[in-house]
Amino acid sequence: MLDPKPPVLSLSSAELEAWLVTNDLPVYRGRQIWGWMARGAASFQAMHDLPKGLRAALERDFRITSLRPVALNQADGALTTKTLFELDGGHSVEAVVMRYTDRSTLCISSQAGCPIGCPFCATGKFPFGRNLKAHEIVEQAVDAVRVLAGEERRLSHVVFMGMGEPMANYAAVLESVRRLADPELLGISPRRIVVSTSGLIPRIEQLAGEGLPVTLAISLHAARDELRDVLVPINRKYPVRDLVGAAQGYATKTGRRVSYEWVLLAGVNDTEQDAKELGTLLRRKLAHVNLIPFNPVEDTPYRAPDRAAIRRFREMVEAEGLNVTVRDTRGREADAACGQLHERVMRSRVPVS
Ligand code: SAH
Ligand code: SF4
Repeated sequence: MLDPKPPVLSLSSAELEAWLVTNDLPVYRGRQIWGWMARGAASFQAMHDLPKGLRAALERDFRITSLRPVALNQADGALTTKTLFELDGGHSVEAVVMRYTDRSTLCISSQAGCPIGCPFCATGKFPFGRNLKAHEIVEQAVDAVRVLAGEERRLSHVVFMGMGEPMANYAAVLESVRRLADPELLGISPRRIVVSTSGLIPRIEQLAGEGLPVTLAISLHAARDELRDVLVPINRKYPVRDLVGAAQGYATKTGRRVSYEWVLLAGVNDTEQDAKELGTLLRRKLAHVNLIPFNPVEDTPYRAPDRAAIRRFREMVEAEGLNVTVRDTRGREADAACGQLHERVMRSRVPVS
């Protein structure tokens, strides 16, 4: 049966303080509780500098998390791990942790499923489930902190590139970003948080006005409307030129360079014409292009280009005068399209602890 208690992270700081007051406890305990959550405490009992009575009261009234890990996969010799979480109500989402020598990046989900329906994306193939609540997003990060702490690592970067379109769940995503960045909670610099979007222009404009310098990633994949209408169907509503205009407005307002994502699909968007169109679109803009070799998804008509074709396309884009990098297919490069890692890649399954 579902535990009806609210997860503690569903409370704001003010709500937690109100709860402490109601229970005749000093409000400064709130900071301590958040401190423990930020260190990935696995239970209220583990918060051992809190009085026993407080720990018992927390346990009586709250759950430590609403997420239930149901499957764990790993790749790259356990440097990449993907957890499938079941949410209250039965939907599930995945989160991927990628470990590097100098950083650890979490790829986070913002929705169960995705309403945008890009034809090359595994998430878009399932019916849309629901928006995640802010605490469900933050809980993915707290879980990653806990796992990484056990390896003496710290969570340093968060990318909204898992399941879902973050801009279609704007309020919860924004609140979760604020909480991830809150020094009393996870304290991750907004600059180390990437919000990736298929291109909801009004939300990009809204984000530019929030005073939060997060890195914006635009999933472009095509520089002409005719092709982008197919690859990223929301393009029919928000066409390429307007989208780049909004993204560059974001760059101007925040001073942050925009990342443009380009999933390489053999014979579809890796031709000289594509490189030239991309050059025309982004030349002399505060922009960086990330080429992502397609991670094959079953029942799609798409294929990944071979190494030589990837190199050729990168060179053509470079020749257009753009900054460009190729991400590695396993999702090992920073900010990879990690939520889209196919089971084929996350080959070995390990027991959930
Ligand atoms: N919905 C948002 C964020 C999640 S998708 C967006 O689309 O930006 C994160 C990135 O993964 C996007 O750039 C998306 O185009 C890419 N992606 C989706 N399916 C992929 C696949 N099979 N192989 C490689 N990248 C993929
Ligand atoms: Fe949704 Fe992004 Fe997948 Fe498109 S690529 S279906 S927007 S998750």
